[in-house]
Amino acid sequence: MSKQGRQTELFGGHVLNLDSGEQEERSLFISGGRLMSSLDDAKEWDRVDCHGLFLIPGLVDSHVHFSQTGLPDGRPDSLDLTRFYPFDQVVHELQTTGPQRFFPTYLGSGVTSVMDVGGFPWTFDMARASVNNPNSPNIAVTGPLLSTIEFKRLNPGQECSFLYVPDEDSARARVRYLVGSPEHGGLGSPMVKIWFIPRAGAFEQQSRVVQAATEEAKALGARVCVHATGRAEALRALMAGCDYLVHSVEDAPLGRDFIQRCLRQHTILCPTLTVMEGYTRLTEVLSTGTAPVLDDPNHLVDAITRARAARLPELVDEGARARMTPARLEATQARTAKGLRQASQNLLALVSAGVPVCAGTDAGNPLTLHGVSIHRELEAMQAAGLSPLAVLRAATRNGALAMGRPGELGDLRPGAAADVVALRADPIQEGVRACRQVEWVVRAGVRKTIGQYQAQVMHTDQTLRPLLLA
Ligand SMILES: [Zn+2]
Repeated sequence: MSKQGRQTELFGGHVLNLDSGEQEERSLFISGGRLMSSLDDAKEWDRVDCHGLFLIPGLVDSHVHFSQTGLPDGRPDSLDLTRFYPFDQVVHELQTTGPQRFFPTYLGSGVTSVMDVGGFPWTFDMARASVNNPNSPNIAVTGPLLSTIEFKRLNPGQECSFLYVPDEDSARARVRYLVGSPEHGGLGSPMVKIWFIPRAGAFEQQSRVVQAATEEAKALGARVCVHATGRAEALRALMAGCDYLVHSVEDAPLGRDFIQRCLRQHTILCPTLTVMEGYTRLTEVLSTGTAPVLDDPNHLVDAITRARAARLPELVDEGARARMTPARLEATQARTAKGLRQASQNLLALVSAGVPVCAGTDAGNPLTLHGVSIHRELEAMQAAGLSPLAVLRAATRNGALAMGRPGELGDLRPGAAADVVALRADPIQEGVRACRQVEWVVRAGVRKTIGQYQAQVMHTDQTLRPLLLA
């Protein structure tokens, strides 16, 4: 393991140039957690032989939620398991023993930066602690999200992750709370997240709420991101001036006006293609009574998550299972596949037009596991018709743009954070599937092999008592 203070030279590897797509055999120099154009030759440095390895910038997952575990284990969402895992206890567990258990999974999967777009106020502490921290991905957070619909059950106790905004005044007041400085009782958020879920008969009124929240955030110097999966609400979010759309439109082709508006406003879009597959796999668990197979190529999913996933079938009551008939399962699968097809076509149209897209998983949602889900998401983006280089740009440089840290993250140029992933396979020639073959990862200048991340996951398992695994 290299130490943060020491100088390091990574030599002999194929270094991806994000502009040209070429993989240049050159050295990367690291000092003080940053990439340098050269090293101080008055001091010694470690030399790491990278022959046969493909070096890419650390990946950015631009859409995660640390207030969700990746399992239906408390958040009464698609499957209500609150009688086994009371939601307030799950949240308490996350807050005290921490989403830190997911960190080695992220880093070992090559994800060195994440953006939490909607969570409890304590996620701000995680963001602060992540700065130049080799044991944590870089974390950007929005804090609690503004919701256009009421969702009372998701707000245990005082700490809220969903703030319902029924009208324009409440939207403006909530934005002032989110963006305001901590000295004045605010959370100091640099970006406001709005959850735009259309309600029948209320669309115009909801759109005005989104507009008011966006205007207030902009007036206070904050950026705005919006959850919108339908074309109508995504377009309204754009018209309001949103900077970042965290889902693809799944119900219709985007159309020229939509794309032109994205280009004019420099809006970034995160397609988040595969999150519904996780929900669909959960439906399969309900229907078939078999535990889900986890996509975990490097054995980095922690024991708590694995154990809870394995127990899912036995926690499902007979009633829920009986309701999930084969016909309903088939309909769910078909709906998910159709949404993915439309979202994929829209993604290709955006990229072809030059709209910056980033890569995000919505990790934390049921069976979209923290860290490891990045692989399937990148592969789905490539399957949509993007070149491997376009996917890698989305998952690095554009992710840094979404996080508001361009040039500093997701880049291998001097001055950027020393976050580097070494792959055993060529991601340009063989496609982004190569990102599964991680050899080692440098985060904030500290290099760890996949074996060391696996050991860290094991260690975390031993020190964390799975509180609710009764
Ligand atoms: Zn989300």
